[in-house]
Amino acid sequence: MTYESAEYHPAFEEYSETIFELVEDGVEVIQARIADRLNVSRPAVSEMIRKMVAADLVVVDDDTGIALTASGAILAQTVVRRHRLAERFLTDILDLSWTEAHHEAGRWEHVISPAVEAALVRILDDPTTCPHGNPIPGSAYQKPENACRLADVDPGCEFMIQRIPEELEFEPGQLEFLEASGLMPGRSGTILTTAPDGTTTVSINGAAVGVGAFSAERILVSTAA
Ligand SMILES: [Zn+2]
Repeated sequence: MTYESAEYHPAFEEYSETIFELVEDGVEVIQARIADRLNVSRPAVSEMIRKMVAADLVVVDDDTGIALTASGAILAQTVVRRHRLAERFLTDILDLSWTEAHHEAGRWEHVISPAVEAALVRILDDPTTCPHGNPIPGSAYQKPENACRLADVDPGCEFMIQRIPEELEFEPGQLEFLEASGLMPGRSGTILTTAPDGTTTVSINGAAVGVGAFSAERILVSTAA
C-alpha cells in the first residue's frame, strides 16, 4: 500500500489526497472544488492536473470529472493514512488542539517514512480513525451501525458523534467550535430543537449548543435505534 516514487513531489501528494477526500465527502471532483480546498487558482489546478495525467495519477472525463488512477489511489491512500496517523499522534500523545494537529499533519504527511509510519501504528495501538473519526486507510476500520447525519435525528433523540468529515476541517473556525463544544467522536448528546434555517440545537456536556445547517448536514452520528 506504500507508494514508492523516484522523486519526491509534494504537490502530487497534496492533489491526490484532496481528490480522495472530495470523493470521501461526496463532493463533485472538478477543478473548481480542488481550487477551493487547496486555496489555489484555477489555472494552477489545471496545470497540475495536466502533469498528473501525464504521470498516470489521474484521468479526466468531461462528464464524470477527475478520478484517481490505480497508482493515484495508492498515492492518495498513503498520504491520507499518514495525515490521519499524524493527527492521532499530535492530539493523543502531544496534546495539541484539533486545529493545530490538522495543520501540522498537513506537513508531516509528506515526510513520514514507512519506518516512522510503522512506529506510529505501534505506539498508537493500530488506530482505525483520526481524532475526527475519519477512517485511516489500510486500518481495520468498520462503518458504524445506524449512522446518519446529525440534521436527520429527531428532537428528543439521543445520538453519539461518529465522524466530522474532512470537509468541515477546512471550514474556518469549525474545528475550534466543535472541539470547544465537545462535539467529538465518542461523545453523546440529545437533540433539543431543529430550527427552520437548519440550525440543530443539541444538549451535550450539560450545555445547549447550536450547530449550523452546513455542519449538521455533514456530521455523522449513530443513534440507538
Ligand atoms: Zn482528521
